[in-house]
Amino acid sequence: MFIVDTSDTYFLDKIYEDMDKLCVRYDSILSKKVIGKSVEGRDIVALKISGEREEILRCAQNDKKPLILFVGGIHAREDFSVMLCMKMIEQYCYYYNEGKILDCFDVMNIINNADMYFVPAANPDGLNIVHNGIKASSNYDKLRDMKIWGEDNTYWKANANGVDLNKNFDDGNWDIRACVPGTGVPCSERFKGYEANSEPETKALVNFCNKNSFSLMVSYHCSGNCTFWADSGTHHMFNGLDEKIMDELNERFIYRKTKVSADPKIYGCGFENWFRKRMRRPAFCVELSPFVEGGKQHPDYMFEELVWQHGKSTGLFFAEKAIEVYNEVKGDAKKYAALTE
Ligand SMILES: [Zn+2]
Repeated sequence: MFIVDTSDTYFLDKIYEDMDKLCVRYDSILSKKVIGKSVEGRDIVALKISGEREEILRCAQNDKKPLILFVGGIHAREDFSVMLCMKMIEQYCYYYNEGKILDCFDVMNIINNADMYFVPAANPDGLNIVHNGIKASSNYDKLRDMKIWGEDNTYWKANANGVDLNKNFDDGNWDIRACVPGTGVPCSERFKGYEANSEPETKALVNFCNKNSFSLMVSYHCSGNCTFWADSGTHHMFNGLDEKIMDELNERFIYRKTKVSADPKIYGCGFENWFRKRMRRPAFCVELSPFVEGGKQHPDYMFEELVWQHGKSTGLFFAEKAIEVYNEVKGDAKKYAALTE
């Protein structure tokens, strides 16, 4: 029986429990690392899928593999993104062990040739607020006075300091990043923080990327069934590689390719913007599920129908793209840079 159950709301306690269970069941290819702590002291966990057999072979040849990072749950209420990451981890490990093909992707071959890292719940305190209410937060005294944009706690996007993490990253645009009226102070969404990279959750992702040379990054959000794949400040650096990957994704999946984000006052300071600017590698924001006006989320029980059946092999797709690029330059970092800059 599978460990990850996404038939309805996937609570944080269960998520942490399942991370450990998955590492036990798939101990030959799956491992866990705590990369930081949230405002309320919760673990921010990264899980790594790495094919051991090929790795032993490759180590002997002193060869390396591309690393790919997948992130879910930066925005608290978009919990489909957390469910997708957790379910992808389990299913990819399962398909690897079984030697099976998933949506035309050779899972074993991909996992043997790329290390896939997942941070499924990048904002655990926010997720706790969405599922259990503000009273469940150890920061309740601060949070109870903050404005909630929306009907109730299920609209919460920020962390437990009322900072919207996807507007907090130091991509060079933080000073000019605009605040919608009313969101210049801590609240449920859109507040960019009192300074760039101020939040522990932001720092955890920044440090993790600085320590690992990821070839590309995918950040899952909701909603719109589309991708934000480039911004005007960095698009020129990738020599068309970002667009090539997006065109192919567009062909094979439901996610519509949007225009290059033009105005850093509006797009700046997201994790994907930071990654492109600072890591100088492609990064993609994938918006799961059909668009809903006003930020209301679909009910959790609809995950299978609205997200999983469309997005389940996106992780394999991006890993395959990273492998293709990596093989083209034979893992040479300088050649990779030449290809993307
Ligand atoms: Zn989002």
